[in-house]
Amino acid sequence: MDTYRLNDLEITIDKQGANRYTKTSYPVRYGRFCEIKTPQYLFQYNLNGEIKTIRGLNSDWPHPSEWLKRTDANDWVFYSVGRYHRLFSFLGEYYLPCFSYPSNSPWEYNPFGDFIIQKALAAGSRIVVDLRPLLSNGVPSRIKNFVGRILRQHTSTLSRQTEKLHQIIGGPVSVLPPDTRHVDYEIIPLMIADGCLYHCDFCCVKSRRSFQRRSEANIRRQIRRLKTFYAANLGNYNALFLGNHDALAAGWDLIGMSAVEAYETFDFAKSHMKNPALFLFGSADSFLKAGAKLFEALNRLPFYTYINIGLESADAATLEHINKPIGPNKTRDAFQKMLDVNRCYPNIEITANFLLGGRLVPDHYDGIIELIRACLVRFYSKGAIYLSPLKTVRNRAVLLRQFVEIKNRSRLPAYLYLIQRL
Ligand code: SF4
Repeated sequence: MDTYRLNDLEITIDKQGANRYTKTSYPVRYGRFCEIKTPQYLFQYNLNGEIKTIRGLNSDWPHPSEWLKRTDANDWVFYSVGRYHRLFSFLGEYYLPCFSYPSNSPWEYNPFGDFIIQKALAAGSRIVVDLRPLLSNGVPSRIKNFVGRILRQHTSTLSRQTEKLHQIIGGPVSVLPPDTRHVDYEIIPLMIADGCLYHCDFCCVKSRRSFQRRSEANIRRQIRRLKTFYAANLGNYNALFLGNHDALAAGWDLIGMSAVEAYETFDFAKSHMKNPALFLFGSADSFLKAGAKLFEALNRLPFYTYINIGLESADAATLEHINKPIGPNKTRDAFQKMLDVNRCYPNIEITANFLLGGRLVPDHYDGIIELIRACLVRFYSKGAIYLSPLKTVRNRAVLLRQFVEIKNRSRLPAYLYLIQRL
């Protein structure tokens, strides 16, 4: 770690943050990064010189534990901790991610309308002017190289990078699995299939395509190009998202090939971050179809694997209302299988999603309670239930009350699912 000072700028390169993701109510930085401290802000950059986080240091900053993070899709997310009662119990996290785009959050706070936050984002863009003198002679070459990298990452370059990422994988990721919260949403996306088996009416993240697997050649090309894309910062990743909405339906041959080749090509064994993780979405049908062979093979991968299954409801009328072409028996069978897989395989964790919204009928909630209480004899900490607020919800206080009622009766961990894109 080297530190250099110029006027009121303090530049530190090669900082080592935590090497495991943790859940804390204060800012923790992960992996390797560089930072620039001014009297007003702390800016952090990844190893490609791309801005990653901003935190205000003055008393006008909303809260000392809050910060802004830029995603690989060039979206800013504000990590808010200061305003909410029992946030951890709602999200399983100490912070509320506030997005700069529409989502399904039941909390209305929009930090991006706040002048203090706008000023911080502008300062992040303007700092390049103050950095130019550091390219002159007499500045240590390691500092000069780092500053040179930052200066190449203009605002327009960052948005071009996002376009490039989307072009490599075939389009934006409309929603990440809820379990990716365990790695602070820092995943490498790799698409192994497109579309999904159903086209539910309520769904705001679906694509129009019907389900189709990608070819092995397409997946290998993505892996090669992603390695070049992440470049010097690749070493800060240890998590892979196999997309898109129902990668489980692609079958073991494609899942296994993709996970193993990505692990090796991205050199996850040498990542700055420990405990590699793999994330997939699945549907009731693809999950019920998956046999013991698939789970045994997944369990042997060098990843801890999370599979998130969209069950939505165990009530026939609700399933019909949302136009999900499965019956309640299938939901129950998939739920029971989720409990069995979670007990049998130590490296696999299945989680499930259900809908939450003011207009859903009481039978929908009774059906969920029956599954997450009556089917279990005691509390289990493995295999969370995520309740996904419908975007059409108007009365957010009622929705939060509904969630608390379900959570209080659940014998599995239960959290809200906020839609986050990449
Ligand atoms: S909820 Fe899942 S299965 Fe239904 S349309 Fe959306 S992505 Fe497809």
